[in-house]
Amino acid sequence: MSRAPAVTRAATAPGRRRARACLLESVRAGLLLSLLGLTACQPAGPGVDSAGPVPVAAATGASALEEELKQPIWQELERIEREGRSHPAASEHALHELQPRTAPGSLARVQLLAQRGHLATEMRNAGLTASILKDLEEWPAEASRRAAHLALLYVRARQQRFSGDLRQAERTMAPLAGYSVRETGPRLLLRCHDFMAYLQAETGQIDDAIASANEALRLADGMGQPWRRALVMSNLAFIYHQAQQLELAQQFSVQSQAEANLDPSPALLYDVHTTRGIILQTQGWVGQAQQAKQAALDAARQSGSDALIALALGNFADFHLNQGNYPQALEFSEQALALAIASQNIDYELLSRHNRGIAKIGLKRIEEGKREVLEALARDEQRGADTNAANAWLELGMHLERAGDLPAAVDAFHQHRRRIDQVLRNETRKALLESQESYEDERRAKEIELLNRGNSLKQEQLRARDLQLWLWAALGGCIVLSAVLLGLAYQRIRRTNQALAHSNAALKTASERDPLTGLANRRHFLAAIKRLAEHGQISGSLFLIDIDHFKRINDRHGHAAGDSVLIEIAQRLRACLRDEDLLVRWGGEEFLILVNTREASFASTLAQRLLDQIAWPTVKHGTQGIPVTASIGFASFPMAPHELALVWERAIDLVDTAMYLAKAHGRNQAYGIASVAAVDEVQLQSLAGDMEASWQAGQLELITLHGPARFEDSRQ
Ligand code: GH3
Ligand code: MG
Ligand code: MG
Repeated sequence: MSRAPAVTRAATAPGRRRARACLLESVRAGLLLSLLGLTACQPAGPGVDSAGPVPVAAATGASALEEELKQPIWQELERIEREGRSHPAASEHALHELQPRTAPGSLARVQLLAQRGHLATEMRNAGLTASILKDLEEWPAEASRRAAHLALLYVRARQQRFSGDLRQAERTMAPLAGYSVRETGPRLLLRCHDFMAYLQAETGQIDDAIASANEALRLADGMGQPWRRALVMSNLAFIYHQAQQLELAQQFSVQSQAEANLDPSPALLYDVHTTRGIILQTQGWVGQAQQAKQAALDAARQSGSDALIALALGNFADFHLNQGNYPQALEFSEQALALAIASQNIDYELLSRHNRGIAKIGLKRIEEGKREVLEALARDEQRGADTNAANAWLELGMHLERAGDLPAAVDAFHQHRRRIDQVLRNETRKALLESQESYEDERRAKEIELLNRGNSLKQEQLRARDLQLWLWAALGGCIVLSAVLLGLAYQRIRRTNQALAHSNAALKTASERDPLTGLANRRHFLAAIKRLAEHGQISGSLFLIDIDHFKRINDRHGHAAGDSVLIEIAQRLRACLRDEDLLVRWGGEEFLILVNTREASFASTLAQRLLDQIAWPTVKHGTQGIPVTASIGFASFPMAPHELALVWERAIDLVDTAMYLAKAHGRNQAYGIASVAAVDEVQLQSLAGDMEASWQAGQLELITLHGPARFEDSRQ
């Protein structure tokens, strides 16, 4: 086994991101929804608190909207909408013809203009866009004025997005939270929340993007159309993928596939397969990812749309880059670039240029490739596509490292680290976890409800309620009897509540465990750190452990073997620790340890023991012995020599950077930060920003430990 020098971390390659992201604000909007529940879809804030599909209800003003949406014109609009993305020019023509059939000032006219605005901006037709904006600005009717105004914001924001200012587009859409479905109809609102989710995800506000996409999902649920649900779920899956929440991403991707199968069309299947392919690729399931990407390309071809084919080719190029198949990647990205330039789509063009540059780096045309990638990157940064740019740096670093240009690779990794820190800021990460927690809480609440339905707990509840009813009936006649019954009812309700609390507590405990390894998970860590860190500041030694080349273990021995390795390594780590030490499965193949001691020599001894225990003996899976090593970053807090106290998020960042250095310097090593010449967090930030340079300059002292000599060559 030769040692490939790739430092691959988050597997969110920019190509994949961008290609999929362009789909987010694609076609959508609804058909003649059964208006059931529309009116109850309350104030349209993209809150995460309001759960479930739009409920059935009647509210004032409902009937007028209901009547309006029953007009046959809405079915026509929907048909065009579904096909619009594959054939924008033909769809624009059809809408133009249809316009006289909508009454001036009607909601149908708003919807039609929103769809035309979508297409006009998609086709970069400035004249048409301006005339649609003018129609919406000079809106003649009071009744649908708010809807027209939202459509105006939407078309303007799309125009800004295509002129390259994503942040401005996001600001333009900001009033969206104040619009209700009663004012705008569900389709326009869904379209806007979906577009907002795209903008927020692209500009690095991933937690907001998830909230917006969930709002779109609620609207789609209320409309009861599988194709809409499929699209929205596919988008949500993609955003969770961007947020590096692969389990949720996969869950939504599977659901969206099932919904799409109920009412398929080439463009829809393209979307669903593309998202699935991206997620599978990140999970390391190469064969399945390739199949999904092929299915996406087939669907794109079937749709007959150049734009979709360009995207599908871009995605496929990215797959081949990932597999190191550079000639094929180069060919696909060349083809994609030609189509992207022809359709004047800046997203697709930058994606293709980026992929082409990376392919050239892989083919050892390093300088030429690097120049091309950096140009695409600069244009991304200029237009505010921060998430994209951050991931583009990572991919660049990865391939430069593979190509042997180590100094440039290290620089690219630093650039990535700097940008991803901004994108997934600690606050954002925390908010993300919290919002996810609230979605999960909702789901859990539903689970409990379902469980209760069939079991005695529920019966107990019902009986308690019966008793209450009884009680009220008897109240008029016999106050004394009522009091007795009241007491009984109270007792039962209390018992029921206790049982519920008990079952909730059991679920909570289960939700803080990682099901594969049985270790605590991040959720547990967040709960525990509140107790352990005084004022959020950490005290003790912190270790971040990342298994080396774990993806290769999956690729070579299969996913099940990868799982066995994780379980075994988790046990070995546990065996090195005391009961009171905190051990967490931090991510896929990352573990975090917090030990309540600050003695530097102890931290080094433990780090060495961890390296040794992980590497020897090889992990048994069936008859195979799988060699495993890991890279470790560690440090003790408060930080010597100035006793600098750090909040836990910063502390983790620091050991993470040390772990990166251990990877970059060959893996199977532990790098510990012994001291930093910093008296405050600002100084620390600047020294840690380029840890390698600070180390060389003697401003930061590192302990470097090596794992056991490699044995895999002789054993494989
Ligand atoms: P490096 O040495 O740079 O850390 O490379 P790596 O391959 O270990 O790192 P990378 O982050 O690229 O890959 C981690 C892989 O771990 C990707 C993902 O497919 C896999 N993975 C994540 N969770 C699980 C899991 O629960 N089971 C299995 N079998 N694989 C997982
Ligand atoms: Mg990792
Ligand atoms: Mg790893």
